[in-house]
Amino acid sequence: MNRIPSMEDFEKKIKRILITPEEIREAIRKAGEDISRLYDGNPILLVGILKGSFVFLSDLCRAVTAPCEIGFMCAKSYYNGTVSSGEVKITMDLEQDISRYHVVIAEDIVDTGRTLKDVVALLKKRNPLSLQVVTLLDKPDRRLVDFKADVSLFTIPDHFVIGYGLDCAEYFRNLPYIAEYNTEA
Ligand code: 5GP
Repeated sequence: MNRIPSMEDFEKKIKRILITPEEIREAIRKAGEDISRLYDGNPILLVGILKGSFVFLSDLCRAVTAPCEIGFMCAKSYYNGTVSSGEVKITMDLEQDISRYHVVIAEDIVDTGRTLKDVVALLKKRNPLSLQVVTLLDKPDRRLVDFKADVSLFTIPDHFVIGYGLDCAEYFRNLPYIAEYNTEA
């Protein structure tokens, strides 16, 4: 999409809804309960990988009852249209010294696995008390490296998806659901 899209352009790009707001809410409620139980009142650092995870992180942190700090990293996987180029760069790092924290990474989607494999390797070198990855979406059919999230809320087929934080050319992040992107429209 090279120009500012009209409302009509937007609607044509939304092929079908894959996961509804209600399904997302229920899965996050359960994930929040599991995280709160696992850390048993110990403080955690919930890390969002920008930009895609900002909506997921904001809902997940409100479903967690354990004391919780928030941190952000920006890791960019470069795409040619909807195809990963395989290059990952950390463009913004955490402020916290994570050796004092149980770290929970909240990610929007694991696709090839490259972003999280790199981010996890980097953070492990900083000796956190513990580290786990919670992803909203997992596309296992697309994996190119050996990586598995500790918790995955939804497994989806090999479609390019938008909404609930996920974009195409920076649009569609504000959709309240996960939809399949219409590459043909
Ligand atoms: P990976 O490194 O696992 O290939 O890709 C991770 C990043 O690529 C995600 O955080 C997300 O920003 C982007 N990505 C992967 N698949 C999709 C998708 O289906 N839709 C969107 N909007 N972004 C995706």
